[in-house]
This record gives sequence, structure tokens and C-alpha cells, in this order.
Amino acid sequence: METEFAAQTGANAPGTIRLRGHHFLCLLTYKGLGYTPAFVKNLSRIAQAINDGTPVMLAQGPDDICNGLSLEDRLRCGHDCEKESVYRRDAQAIAATAPLLDLNMNAPFILTANAVKTLRAAFASGQTRAGCVGCPWVQTCDNIAADGFAGTILLPADTE
Ligand code: SF4
Repeated sequence: METEFAAQTGANAPGTIRLRGHHFLCLLTYKGLGYTPAFVKNLSRIAQAINDGTPVMLAQGPDDICNGLSLEDRLRCGHDCEKESVYRRDAQAIAATAPLLDLNMNAPFILTANAVKTLRAAFASGQTRAGCVGCPWVQTCDNIAADGFAGTILLPADTE
């Protein structure tokens, strides 16, 4: 799995999944919904790799999840990963999330079950939702959080 990610993403840390800021939120509510079938397939693969212990690190701009959308896909669903508003969403998400994780997100780290539990509690309380403002999926993610994140895919094994 590690070699696969390094080869497909060109990550500067081999075997590491690169995630932009607001995707640390989106992964918490991900239950198989997304812009296109290819996007969903890629995101499911990433969530599973995190569950299996593949390290993640913070990316600036389009990341390994964005890479699930081809240019053709982006035109079809009207989603632009380079929009300034998406970069703002990243900054707001990380400003709220980084203190909770209390580690260097610019280097590879394992997203543990405890870390996900902490992030989900903060998400459900609204503490980290500034990064969601203006996102078309807000209502869906509100409902998923209100439902206790039932059916979500990110469930890393506890490595702590
Ligand atoms: S509302 Fe949007 S930005 Fe927030 S977690 Fe859901 S999909 Fe991600």
C-alpha cells in the first residue's frame, strides 16, 4: 500500500497520504458519498489505507483526495479544488484542528483511533466547523454527526 501511494501521488514522503486542511474534517463524516464514482472509489481507498495505518500529513492545496477527480470530472460536477474559498476552508479547518491533535502535521503521522474520536467530538460540538462554512455538503455532514457518525468509513485500529 505504501509504495502504491508514493507512486500515484508523487508525495514527497513516500508511503504518506497527503491531506489538505479541510479534508481532516471530511474524512470524519465520509460514508461513501461524493462527487463522482471515481472520487468515491479513491476516497474509500484512502480511508481504508488510513484505517490500515498508512501515515498522513498536511498538504497545501490539492491533495490525494482531490486527485480522485479528473479534469473531466471537475468540469462535469463544477467542483474546483483550486478555488480561493477552498484554500480559506483549509486554513480555517487547520486552525481549529491542529491544536486538538497537538503534533507536527507537516510531517507524516498516524491518525489514531483516539485522534479520530477527539476530532469527531469537536466536529459534533461545532468547534471545528468554521472550515465547513459555504460547503454544499454541510447539511449532510450535520446529519451524519447528529447520528453519531454511524456508517462512516474512517475507523483506524487503535495503535496507541
Ligand atoms: S461540510 Fe463540507 S467541508 Fe465540512 S466535513 Fe462536510 S464535506 Fe467536509
